[in-house]
Formats: sequence, structure tokens, C-alpha cells
Amino acid sequence: MSQTGQVARLFPIDGGRAGDEPTRASREGGEPGRGGLSRRRFAQLFGAGVAAVSGVGSVRAASALQAATAPAVSPASPASPATGPRPVALRAVPAAGVPRGARGAVRLSSNENPYGPSPAAFDAMREAFGLAWRYPDEHAEALAQDLARLHGVDPEQVLLGAGSSEILNLAAVAFTGPGRPAVAAEPTFESVPRHAQRHGAETVAVPLTADFRHDLPRMLGAAADPGLIYVCNPNNPTATITPKQDVRALLGKVPERTMVLVDEAYFHFVEQADYESVVPLVAAHPNLVVTRTFSKIYGMAGLRCGYAVAQRAAIARLREHAAYDSVNVLALAAARASLHDAEQVERSRRLNREVRAALCAELDRLGFGYLPSAANFMMIDLRQPVAPVIQALRQRNVEVGREFPALPRHLRVTIGTAEQIQAFVAAFGQAVAGRG
Ligand code: PLP
Repeated sequence: MSQTGQVARLFPIDGGRAGDEPTRASREGGEPGRGGLSRRRFAQLFGAGVAAVSGVGSVRAASALQAATAPAVSPASPASPATGPRPVALRAVPAAGVPRGARGAVRLSSNENPYGPSPAAFDAMREAFGLAWRYPDEHAEALAQDLARLHGVDPEQVLLGAGSSEILNLAAVAFTGPGRPAVAAEPTFESVPRHAQRHGAETVAVPLTADFRHDLPRMLGAAADPGLIYVCNPNNPTATITPKQDVRALLGKVPERTMVLVDEAYFHFVEQADYESVVPLVAAHPNLVVTRTFSKIYGMAGLRCGYAVAQRAAIARLREHAAYDSVNVLALAAARASLHDAEQVERSRRLNREVRAALCAELDRLGFGYLPSAANFMMIDLRQPVAPVIQALRQRNVEVGREFPALPRHLRVTIGTAEQIQAFVAAFGQAVAGRG
């Protein structure tokens, strides 16, 4: 049954659409930092990064990119005369340029993808402008079907959200409450514990292991009758992974009454062999929910689109609390087109890997340690309190992650473009000079 059909069945009231905006989680957010790039290569990367950025949003022939499609997904189908008015003639979407935050700061604070959405996503959005007057039902259905095909599940096993943040909120509401605690790592992405707490649930924080994995055996025993165990893999803010055998062991032991949510927001960046996505394990585990997002590798953080994959019953429990039609038609169009642009994923992953390695080489040179990063951000071991360094960087127009109380001497920085990371390195050298 279609997604729309499900909503209709659960809420058989025509036209009663809610427009609730989901609560926006504060964003926090890598990769394996084995240094090794020469300064010359770093400078070359700088050029590559700028070239890549200047290509973002320019009107490029979509056909070459669309040729690099993921085979399991059918082509995106933009507006047709049958589905709505002809798209208006639009000038090119302006290029993103070198990404800057408020007041022109170099923004390395939110683990965004500085290369932005796929050119195919820009094209699809331009074509979808003409559909802005309509509810997006069939486009949501189409994306759910594409995702179902991609993951080898039924469309009823997919729930879309306005970012995966919406799904995390729904999971806290659906699975936790008084007497049904939420268990999460410390530190981790705080959306689930925060929403669970507001929902009247006790929250239990279990420190990461000494090597920055989730301590899953301890998390399993940390509360009586937990409603939800949240596993962020790779973990934000540490950018470290929890190995596949640990996650499988947890799923093998956890009581069926306890839901396990594995947050795979940074899945696409991971290149370590002992990591795996648990989407294929959904078939065997009715209590497993996996979340993904279009905000990270697909560069669509501002568009707001994420999703969950789980068995039908678990999706139905989440859907009970969901707003109708929370994902807008432009985000849906962009997401569908992005799924076909394998080249964009590969390019983002490669640029992230290269710039991260260049940053690691700079940190090695400066004598700072860092956690092995599997994502598009990394944690630098400052050996001194982070708060003054964050402040000193801000004074130099560079925004980095906030302080995480469990790691008060580590600084989280997003892997931006080569140019942004050069700016960061210059400011960082000044910010830490004479400290510690
Ligand atoms: N999960 C993790 C681990 C994150 O770091 C983030 C955002 O930074 C999110 C989920 C939420 O992402 P979004 O709502 O943009 O999908």
C-alpha cells in the first residue's frame, strides 16, 4: 500500500492536514585521520575544493550525472503536464559559492556538506517549482518507493521525515515515556535523549569505551525495561564507529520490547571494514529502526529530508505521531534526483577523505592528536579546555562545534572545503598559540 494510503487508513479524514514543523534539533554533528598529504598537495586540494565548490549549483548537463545512476532506483520523474502546470522559466539557481555562515564566517560547526546538492537535484527542484501549490503526496510516495527499492524493503517499511531529526523525535515520543527509559551513549547526538526527557522518560547516558565505541553491553544493562536504545553510528560528536560485531551482538540480546534505533546519518562517509549498515538486519529484527538523512553526503541540510527503515509495525508506531506531509515537494524532488547521482556521493566522499587527510597532516605538524574519524568531521585533542579556543576561533571568523561536556578538551571541526580548512588551520594555529 502506498504511503498516502497508509495515512488515509490511519487517519480517514479528508483534508485534515497538520502542518506542524518538527522541533529542530541543535546540530552537531568526519574521517580516518591518517595524515600524509604534502603541503603542495594540500595547496592542490585547495584548488580542487574551490573548483568543486564553484561548480555547485551551476547549470550543468544533468545527463552525464544521471548516467551514473544507482541501478536499483528508477529515474526521477519531474513535473509533467499531466501532474501540474508547466514549470516556469527560471534563471539558474545561483552557485553556492564558498560556503559561509552568518557574518561571512567560515562555518565548520554543523557537519554540513560544503559542496551542496547534486546538480541533478538543482535541476529537479527547478522543475518542481511549478508544483508548489500542491500537497506532495505522490512525490512522497515515489521517494518512499525509490528508497524501498534501494534497500530491498517494502514501501510501507519506509517513513519520510523533515530531516532525520523529525524521525528521532518521533522515536522518542513513540517508544519512550514514564517507565520506558531512553538509553544513549555519552557523548552522542542529543536529539533522542532530549526529546525522551521532554516526553517524561528517564534517560540513561552510558560513556563511550576508552576507544570511543558505544559500550553496548553496558547500554543493554543500564536500565530496567528500556523503551529505546539509541546507537549513533558513526557517532556524533566523536566521528568514531561502533564495529559491526558489537551491534550484531546487541541486536541478538536485546528484548523485543526494547526498540533499537541506529542512526546512520554519516553512513556514506565510512570506509572502515569493521563497519556495516544495519538496514539489511531490519528483516530479522522487529525492534530495529534505522535512520538516514539527505543532509550529509547529499548536501541537502537546508532542504530537510530524512527517513527511517524498519518493519511495518515499528513504522506504524512512528507514523501515529507524524505530521502529515512534513517533507516539501522541492526536498522530495531533490532527494529522488540525488539517489541517482552516484557520482556526487563518490565525489563528496573523496573530497572529504582528501581534505580530512590534509587536515590530519597539518595537525600532525602542529603536534595535536585527534580521534580516528569515519565521517565528515573530526575531534581534535587540544590537551586544554576547548571553550576559550572556540571563542578565539570565533574571533577569527571561524565557527566550530560547541563544547561537549563529556569531552571538554576536544574540539569538533567539520571537514569543509580545502579552502575552509586552510582558513581553519591558520586560525587554529593562532588560537592555540601560547595556550596549554
Ligand atoms: N543524526 C545525527 C548523528 C546528526 O549529526 C544529525 C545532524 O547533524 C542528525 C541526525 C539530524 O540530521 P537531519 O535532521 O538534518 O537529517
